[in-house]
Amino acid sequence: MDYTLMVEAAAEMQDVVVIGGGAAGLMCAATAAARGRKTLLLEHNKKPGAKILISGGGRCNFTNQDAVAAAYLSENRHFAKSALSRYTPWDFMDLLARHGVTWHEKTLGQLFCDQGAGRILKVLLDECAEAGAVVRTGVAARSVRFEDGRYKLTTSEGVISASKLVVASGGLSIPKMGATGFAYDVARQFGLKVVTPEPALVPFTFKDHDLAFMKPLAGVAADSMVSCGKTSFREALLFTHRGLSGPAILQISSYWHAGEAVTINLLPDEADVLGWLKDVRDSRPKAALKTILAEKLATRLADAIAESWPGIMASFSNKTLEVIAARLGAWEVVPAGTEGFAKAEVTRGGVDTDCLSSKTMEAKAQPGLYFIGESVDVTGWLGGYNFQWAWASGWAAGQYV
Ligand SMILES: Cc1cc2nc3c(=O)[nH]c(=O)nc-3n(C[C@H](O)[C@H](O)[C@H](O)COP(=O)(O)OP(=O)(O)OC[C@H]3O[C@@H](n4cnc5c(N)ncnc54)[C@H](O)[C@@H]3O)c2cc1C
Repeated sequence: MDYTLMVEAAAEMQDVVVIGGGAAGLMCAATAAARGRKTLLLEHNKKPGAKILISGGGRCNFTNQDAVAAAYLSENRHFAKSALSRYTPWDFMDLLARHGVTWHEKTLGQLFCDQGAGRILKVLLDECAEAGAVVRTGVAARSVRFEDGRYKLTTSEGVISASKLVVASGGLSIPKMGATGFAYDVARQFGLKVVTPEPALVPFTFKDHDLAFMKPLAGVAADSMVSCGKTSFREALLFTHRGLSGPAILQISSYWHAGEAVTINLLPDEADVLGWLKDVRDSRPKAALKTILAEKLATRLADAIAESWPGIMASFSNKTLEVIAARLGAWEVVPAGTEGFAKAEVTRGGVDTDCLSSKTMEAKAQPGLYFIGESVDVTGWLGGYNFQWAWASGWAAGQYV
């Protein structure tokens, strides 16, 4: 017997191995172990749940009360329905309540933990411990083989054998926190398709005259309606040194493709911007445009826009007012790009849902292999939707492994 075979003969035998100690993996491991399955979770970071800990500014926006499939991007908009309907935001709230955790709603159905993100992670780790799931950190999954009906996982600490393998290793966002393309490699190895992973919920970068306008405004925020194609979000926009960010921009970035224009309405409460400008010209002809705009926008932003039109309202022709109205209500910009995976809150794309069962998250053509969480081509809006998908898909797989 050569050395490799000896190691494999001594391979640890598990019912279930979960790769990745993030939101989805921890939920799945706890659920599987609670069903009596001998479960081992592997995380290559020194500690599990890195993204949970930094989420929601340290308060973890752990779910959204409106987490329906329409709030998720996927090549198959129906795929997420099954898992989301079987493990709802209220199920997660029940779990938190059982552990004495409390929360509050900030806005738009977003729920945040009163005790901080660390408490959410503790709930998941306590659930794993109570159910008997072993969480092993500092161990990286390197490669997988399927032999004699079992998965042989080569890790940085030797070979582990499991009858069910759950890949919960996330997407490519924030490599410095441990993100890898492991899930995509395993998917492709077993013949599953992968929808091209791209940065999502990510700030836009700009060049040339757009950046020259935006950069001096870094730090200025504006309530705005931001659109790309048929999709619009009304939330805050934030100017940065490299372009645009803020919730409205992060949201629309998930729908944006290179080269496309984004339209920004800086006066979303004004149904008819041109009509409003004409009214003001009549009622306050001697007022400067910057004075008028500063009543609705941050002064720095009002000044920057009005720089191109320094005169008083009475001096503007209808044609000029049309141009100003378009600049305020339908400002069209073409981002040069995004801040990339280094800054993206999530990854759009991932393991193609056509290859997975929406009920169990198991690969249709590869029995015993499961993909959950962000590794799958299901991407939520900003506001707690991504964690809800992690809980729901992790729970769904945990019921069947
Ligand atoms: C800054 C930031 C803030 C966020 N805030 C929120 C929020 O408030 N609300 C919300 O809903 N979503 C938020 N998100 C998104 C959310 O964190 C993710 O959607 C969610 O964590 C995905 O969970 P997951 O378990 O699928 O993947 P991850 O949390 O990425 O977990 C995957 C784990 O697998 C490990 N891993 C990778 N490769 C290997 C390997 N080969 N071997 C072993 N382990 C491996 C990784 O180290 C990681 O711990 C935020 C994201 C970021 C970056």
